[in-house]
Amino acid sequence: MPFGVYVHYPYCARHCPYCDFTVAVTREIPHKAYRDAVLAELAARAGSFAGRPPAISLYFGGGTPGLWPAENIAAIIEAVDGRLGLAPGAEITVECNPEDVTAATAPALRAAGVNRISLGVQSFDDALLGRLGRKHTGDGARRAVARLRAGGLEDINIDLMHGERRQPLAAVLADVHAAVELAPTHVSTYQLTIEEKTAFGARARRGERLLVEDDVLTAMYGAVRAALSDGGIEPYEVSNAARPGHEARHNSLYWTDGEYLALGAGAHGYMHRGDGAERWENLRHAGRYMQAALAGRPGETFRDLLDAAERLEDRVLCGLRLDRGIAVDPALEARFGDRARRLAEQGLLGGLPRRWRATARGRAILDRVIVDLVS
Ligand code: SF4
Repeated sequence: MPFGVYVHYPYCARHCPYCDFTVAVTREIPHKAYRDAVLAELAARAGSFAGRPPAISLYFGGGTPGLWPAENIAAIIEAVDGRLGLAPGAEITVECNPEDVTAATAPALRAAGVNRISLGVQSFDDALLGRLGRKHTGDGARRAVARLRAGGLEDINIDLMHGERRQPLAAVLADVHAAVELAPTHVSTYQLTIEEKTAFGARARRGERLLVEDDVLTAMYGAVRAALSDGGIEPYEVSNAARPGHEARHNSLYWTDGEYLALGAGAHGYMHRGDGAERWENLRHAGRYMQAALAGRPGETFRDLLDAAERLEDRVLCGLRLDRGIAVDPALEARFGDRARRLAEQGLLGGLPRRWRATARGRAILDRVIVDLVS
């Protein structure tokens, strides 16, 4: 089974009003101390992943890991390679915000070993970017892509967001077309969601409507997928589309029951335990995380054991997000086979008997299909 490594960098230059990720906003980011903490955590945890083939992916997410001077990223890539091994051509991704990409960014990251960038564009519409609290402009995002390419980083994911109340379908499609024009290898499209403990959450509690209506959202989702497909970037998962051969290898681990070692504050890890599995979350507070990791005892907010039945449910839950669905094995067939056949009769699942994949109708109500299958 392939496995990967996720490194969470929790620092951001500001807190976007819709974001509830584990982030820390501080004037002085302790770049080196945080790197040392991640290296200490790697030393403490690498043993639990020993004996596996080399990692197929290393993903620096956040937060804004694009703020981390490249020498720190280089040190972590080298240490992961030294302790666990990185497979030849392993996918090594760093998330960046457009305003942080300079002419020096790509050469420095490439020299560190990075071969893929995920760019938090969200939109090319300056008015919407302002409402989302973003600091870049549409032209700034275009410049960032050009700079990454000029510096030799060609494998670029563009993140887009839709569903904000004042964003009509035409504006959503204009964003997709603008992204396609930049010829990225991958596009991730997210619906804006209102999380309770965010500035948008507070505005929603005061009665403000921040999202488009549900039926508009559903129409937008279909239109976005069609526009991406027309542009040669084929949807392959609920929120992700790629040019052939550029499906995200690291994220694919999440959808296919792959294992991943988590490093950094608030990072989530997952490993198999016989027929079951184990998953955990690192301490979320950056300061407390660093203290524990540097003391050689990385702490966790939780560690859950999944039995074989729970792991099977998770495989269905995650695998059905993929357009190709999941390959049916005897364990899945024995547990969910009758329900899968009933959903197929309703036109919601296809690919039987070898695969279970949501049909176009099934995808429109995917949450219900998954609940019907596993509960
Ligand atoms: S959306 Fe990105 S840049 Fe904004 S606070 Fe969240 S992690 Fe940081």
